[in-house]
Amino acid sequence: MTGKVEKHSIEQLGLEDELEKSSNSSLGRSWSPGWSKSDKALAEFIENYLLHYSGNRLNLGGDSTSLLSPYIHFGELSVRKVFQLARTKQILWTHEGNIIGEESATLFLRAIGFREYSRYLCFSFPFTLERPLLGNLKFFPWNNDPSNFKAWRQGRTGYPLVDAGMRELWATGWIHNKMRVIVSSFAVKMLLIPWKWGMKYFWDTLLDADLESDILGWQYISGSLPDGHKLERLDDPEVLGRKYDPAGEYIRQWLPELARMPAEWIHHPWDAPLTVLTASGVELGQNYPKPIIDIDLAREQLTQAIFKMWETEAATKASSSQDRQVVDENEKLLIPKVFLKDKVPRGATSANDQTVPILQNLKSDDPPNKRQKCTAEEDRKPDKSRNRSDHTEVSCIDQEDCSTAESSSKRQCSSTSSFSVP
Ligand SMILES: Cc1cc2nc3c(=O)[nH]c(=O)nc-3n(C[C@H](O)[C@H](O)[C@H](O)COP(=O)(O)OP(=O)(O)OC[C@H]3O[C@@H](n4cnc5c(N)ncnc54)[C@H](O)[C@@H]3O)c2cc1C
Repeated sequence: MTGKVEKHSIEQLGLEDELEKSSNSSLGRSWSPGWSKSDKALAEFIENYLLHYSGNRLNLGGDSTSLLSPYIHFGELSVRKVFQLARTKQILWTHEGNIIGEESATLFLRAIGFREYSRYLCFSFPFTLERPLLGNLKFFPWNNDPSNFKAWRQGRTGYPLVDAGMRELWATGWIHNKMRVIVSSFAVKMLLIPWKWGMKYFWDTLLDADLESDILGWQYISGSLPDGHKLERLDDPEVLGRKYDPAGEYIRQWLPELARMPAEWIHHPWDAPLTVLTASGVELGQNYPKPIIDIDLAREQLTQAIFKMWETEAATKASSSQDRQVVDENEKLLIPKVFLKDKVPRGATSANDQTVPILQNLKSDDPPNKRQKCTAEEDRKPDKSRNRSDHTEVSCIDQEDCSTAESSSKRQCSSTSSFSVP
């Protein structure tokens, strides 16, 4: 078959209308599709950023890691090429006695190794898409509460670090690995949300959504891998916030309603004196939620759930040895289906729209990528007057029901300066 391949713009192909441009441009900050862009991103990372990967890789915002995952997932970058370039640098730095460089390259190659490990697991244990690798979680009594799931998706749990991560995920389609661990652990350990629901939501929202890596990540945090987090491990988001975002900059970036909270209280606004809350324009339960669950209660519920799991497991084993039929309750745990009560017209904003400060000045025709965004960090700190009006915009905690399946279509409802949450 012969024929001429012609080049057409996205507009000519009718793939994007005016209303979709702004939300698409925000996704473009993390990924600009195309081989030339992927090669450029790889070269830039290897030459300028790999050297400091070991020191920077735990910073939550911006360019602390390679940001190559969407390119690798979509095959725009061969993982062998990434490996080869990083390995070459590692050899060079070892030869030069550059300890920092050598350590950075080793850690980066290890990260690539995790990706290979995810492939190995799924190839060797294909059922891990549906079931945990360790059989223990089969009997775990998940709390399949759609309202908790929704609060988590919308970044309205009342735990600022978690909420900031979930809002960044929705706005840009990308969050740092550490944030993925924090928000997924919160869902599974604090709220007892079935890990498969979270995995599905990540699958719907991540630009780098990758079946094997997603499975590995969710099983890693939910205690179903032999070398992952223990099932009983529950991390306190307040403590993690102090550790990974001590000044609260990441939170301020993604939660405009907390932008004026002092660093001392930003990770636990529920403890802040009323005078501090008032001065910061925060009304708990009004423009920012109270914690969805108390940490001590969450610990207790997790412990009870683990005991219940053991009991059910023992009872099931006992009954199956008497040749009785065993029904696995978790097999019936379906991800909630979503039906929008009313279809939101395109371009309309709703009461649950959230304003993302950094999106305000984006030009839709020239989306800065994540790296550029980071170097311009100082320029886009939210100004106080804007935040004052922002928090009034999110004063209503909505009751509308919608699901992960709607994520892509709802994204299109965003206006220039705001976006709908799932
Ligand atoms: C719950 C959860 C879900 C995840 N879902 C995905 C997913 O859908 N797609 C995805 O690509 N990654 C996923 N990850 C892994 C990891 O978070 C991302 O690969 C990483 O954050 C991508 O950013 P980067 O390219 O800057 O990473 P870098 O730190 O620069 O790492 C370089 C490359 O190594 C690979 N990599 C790094 N860490 C991991 C890891 N833990 N597991 C697998 N591969 C890794 C990626 O291909 C990445 O691009 C998930 C992690 C968790 C905890």
